[in-house]
Amino acid sequence: MGEEFNKYGLSRYIPENVRRQIRKESGFGCVICGGAFITYEHIDPTFAEAREHDPQKMTLLCWGCHGRVTKGVWSKDKVRSAQQAPITFRNGCANDAFDFRDPFELFLGNNHFQDVSCIVRKSSGEEWLKIEPPEDPEAPPRINAKFYGFDGLPDLEIIGNEWTCSTDVWDLRTEGNRIEVYKAKNQLLLRLKAKPPHGLGIQYLKMLFLDTGIEVGNDGKVDFIIKGKKPFNIDSSMVSGADSVFLVP
Ligand SMILES: [Zn+2]
Repeated sequence: MGEEFNKYGLSRYIPENVRRQIRKESGFGCVICGGAFITYEHIDPTFAEAREHDPQKMTLLCWGCHGRVTKGVWSKDKVRSAQQAPITFRNGCANDAFDFRDPFELFLGNNHFQDVSCIVRKSSGEEWLKIEPPEDPEAPPRINAKFYGFDGLPDLEIIGNEWTCSTDVWDLRTEGNRIEVYKAKNQLLLRLKAKPPHGLGIQYLKMLFLDTGIEVGNDGKVDFIIKGKKPFNIDSSMVSGADSVFLVP
């Protein structure tokens, strides 16, 4: 990172409302490759020559693509074309992949599960959050989960450890190994925290799995809201070696 201010006195700090606008207009991922761990790129003028953080002249690049542009491997023209037609919108999502190894642990709020094959199973057989064992001893365990908003759309999906986030959400924020998905301003749907290589934490969640509400609060408690039944919650439980953790009607 160079100077904090450029020659025009412009700070490197980009105001949050400008950052969100750039994220939204870029489909929440690198406009060239779709990668979801991103940095903000001043296309033209560059940061050194910029007088303001103008979202029209900025976009998102992942660290890999940003490095190629900064080192002159790729041109600013390539970035400009990608800004006009981001790959994220063509794919409908931004994406990245988790780095997991056995033994794998899942943290759902302050509850802790190990060696389980799924977290929720409905009596009709549908499963939510499946953990498949490695295909061979060197391979990773495979995590599969869909996180739906109350509108029934899967906003973030994990398939075999690769995750995608829909370009239709209000915001996707990635910071370090934390991923947050917002349905609307101040309406958080999901906060994931990867703990590579042995764990994934679901720190916040407000979703509907078919007709079952699954909510993880900031206090770490997990509430299950089941149609026609009294809701129940779990707190600080630990389950190891089970086929499914919760059976719901
Ligand atoms: Zn990229």
